[in-house]
Amino acid sequence: MNIIEIIEKKKFNNELSTKEIRFVIDNYLSGKIADYQMSALLMAIWFNGMNDREIFDLTIAMAHSGKILDLSSISGKKVDKHSTGGVGDKTSLALLPMVASLGVPVPKISGRGLGHTGGTIDKVESITGFRTELTIDNFIKNVRKVKASIISANINLAPADKLVYSLRDVTGTIDSIPLIASSIMSKKIAGGADAFVLNITVGQGAFIKDISSAISLAKTMVNIGEKNQKDTYAVISSMNQPLGFAVGNSLEIKEVISLLNNKGPEDLKEICLFLGSYMLIACNAAKNIKEGIDKLEKVLESGKALNKFKQIIKSQNGDVQQINKPELLPEAKYQCEIYSKKNGFVDSVDARMIGEASRILGAGREKKDSKIDLSAGIVLKKKQGQSVNIGEVLAALHYNDEKKLFLASDMVKKAFCIIAKKPIKENLLLAVIDKHGITKLY
Ligand code: URA
Repeated sequence: MNIIEIIEKKKFNNELSTKEIRFVIDNYLSGKIADYQMSALLMAIWFNGMNDREIFDLTIAMAHSGKILDLSSISGKKVDKHSTGGVGDKTSLALLPMVASLGVPVPKISGRGLGHTGGTIDKVESITGFRTELTIDNFIKNVRKVKASIISANINLAPADKLVYSLRDVTGTIDSIPLIASSIMSKKIAGGADAFVLNITVGQGAFIKDISSAISLAKTMVNIGEKNQKDTYAVISSMNQPLGFAVGNSLEIKEVISLLNNKGPEDLKEICLFLGSYMLIACNAAKNIKEGIDKLEKVLESGKALNKFKQIIKSQNGDVQQINKPELLPEAKYQCEIYSKKNGFVDSVDARMIGEASRILGAGREKKDSKIDLSAGIVLKKKQGQSVNIGEVLAALHYNDEKKLFLASDMVKKAFCIIAKKPIKENLLLAVIDKHGITKLY
């Protein structure tokens, strides 16, 4: 078998065998396949796709490139959650303590930022001292002790995904159903949880732009989960505008703290209650959505979720004082406000442009090894449907490098579309897919 033949085969839209897929993953991991060859194969997959059998084989090959965690020493049914990516999507960080504070264990395997979207690992690293490169033993101990822990895909855990993921980030091969499905599901399977709740984002700021592709991705991922005897739920949600107001690593941590103090923002709370409710249902901790939402609202009101967040931060060496006083989190030197030039209503805030502008300011990577600026990003002041007057602030840019401001501010201005007539408010939650089929919510 050789990699050039395999690239040629996919280039001409032929099916790869199980053995060929395993050969690619094993040899890329051991360094025998070069980055440029893997990039060529990823691009061929991007153009020609993969069938369900190939996607399943790719997932399993990547999951088994490291250890499959045995979490049997942790009592109770365990649930992991993952998003296909978005702008301002900090749901994982809020959900971990919300669900864990109800006694449900959440072992969370996360990734870094990808393209214009943020990643949980980058976000949580803006808390001083917080460690995500845990040993597997420590990860399991943390889940046993505080009911939740966050670990990054690493040398032991889905290492093939870690390598392929960072290559996709810089080769224009992120937005592909087979590559997204196998990336996420390999990490979830390696993580060893019993159930998965997946958030499939769709729209301007997501990798998947249309609802039928989102449904297809959701079905593919649910099938992979169920074939591995994992209860799997996929919630499709809109990512036309950023989620919440904050975009950028430490800015998003501040927003998570605000939600855990039960102060909103509204859309972030709505999606967290819904996804969290499915996490409880998957672990038999709620009978239905309503019961799940009631329980989660109570832990926000009582402060139990916030306390759980502090326990999680402490158990991974993070500075809890920054949770008590969010102003101690990294803050950018400069801020620049963008003002409205029109009276009217916000028809849309293009999440992709806001994500790109935030990346330009330093919140995301341009190259595989770029260092990110944890304090940089954008805070929206207006969202879709809200009224706005001339001279009112639409958004504030937080930055340290003045050279980046011109381009980023121009993008933020263009991201806002303001119209005269009040628009219809867009639905956030669109559909749920599980082994029984699809429930449309719009
Ligand atoms: N998150 C992942 O872990 N992988 C993807 O491909 C997209 C989002």
